[in-house]
Amino acid sequence: KEYSTRESNVAKIRVVVRKRPLNKKELAKKEDDIVTVSENAYLTVHEPKLKVDLTAYVEKHEFCFDAVLDEQVTNDEVYQTTVEPIIPTIFERTKATCFAYGQTGSGKTYTMQPLPLRAAEDLVRQLHQSVYRNQRFKLWLSYFEIYGGKLYDLLSDRKKLCMREDGRQQVCIVGLQEFEVSDVQIVKEFIERGNAARSTGSTGANEESSRSHAILQLVVKKHTEVKQSKRNNDGNEARSGKVVGKISFIDLAGSERGADTTDNDRQTRIEGAEINKSLLALKECIRALDNDQIHIPFRGSKLTEVLRDSFVGNSKTVMISCISPGAGSCEHTLNTLRYADRVK
Ligand code: ADP
Ligand code: MG
Repeated sequence: KEYSTRESNVAKIRVVVRKRPLNKKELAKKEDDIVTVSENAYLTVHEPKLKVDLTAYVEKHEFCFDAVLDEQVTNDEVYQTTVEPIIPTIFERTKATCFAYGQTGSGKTYTMQPLPLRAAEDLVRQLHQSVYRNQRFKLWLSYFEIYGGKLYDLLSDRKKLCMREDGRQQVCIVGLQEFEVSDVQIVKEFIERGNAARSTGSTGANEESSRSHAILQLVVKKHTEVKQSKRNNDGNEARSGKVVGKISFIDLAGSERGADTTDNDRQTRIEGAEINKSLLALKECIRALDNDQIHIPFRGSKLTEVLRDSFVGNSKTVMISCISPGAGSCEHTLNTLRYADRVK
């Protein structure tokens, strides 16, 4: 079951909400499912409340988005409603971004992981189609992380990276490794390698990775004649290609982490402030984009600076807001939906 307004699957900015099923923990606690999805991409949150005299009542909050996906919707269907329609535009000079937003545990990674794989499959297939076959198009993959406002290459031993702008609105991440991908199996291996390199710290994988933004990019480049000596995956060939279009998949830091600004631990506070700043800057940039503003406030954060070239020219943005259905997550769910609502 999927409810979508289906106005246009290739609109410049689309905001899609995905509700996950109640998990074992929530079921064990007998938490109520407080989110109902209805036709025409409407969604209602039934917030449990107490009156002063402690009698219980429910406050309803209604929202409407471009599409609302309920707990029955599969990852394949998520791909079909969000990324698939954009794929052909990548060959037409489009820079696309797909974000997963939401609190930790709401399903961002679950939703995001399969998308680049499916996208690469479609891109590779289209590269091999006759129209493009003789044009020396190639597909390149990179995978990096923004953690505490710093960039790390997930495909080369977490090498610290820096960013440069060349005055023509082109962002260059100095030293970022790009790998040519000609089949989907290779893409899968790179994704797994990158995932293993994500910040894991001492507290365990999900805890730490929820404080970082992971960015996987698939870039279609057009290549002119390349000298044999410049081959080998040393980056020369990747640099010699001219970017045609690209799609970035961004598994954002847990939205609740932005509130860690009063934590006892100094490092946690700094990271919380950085996350808060980047999520606010992201919202402002997408809003500016939606209003066709000339000035897009990229400088607000590292995340938006890195994505600068994806916010100008032919751009497409899909925001997938992930929500937990349980009553215990009500406050975070409402925050996520309000954020998504403001983006539109
Ligand atoms: P996040 O990345 O937002 O912290 P995860 O993607 O890690 O959240 O999801 C948390 C847990 O919920 C995982 O065990 C994941 O497999 C499960 N999950 C998330 N979304 C779904 C879904 N739509 N259907 C089934 N299980 C899901
Ligand atoms: Mg995650």
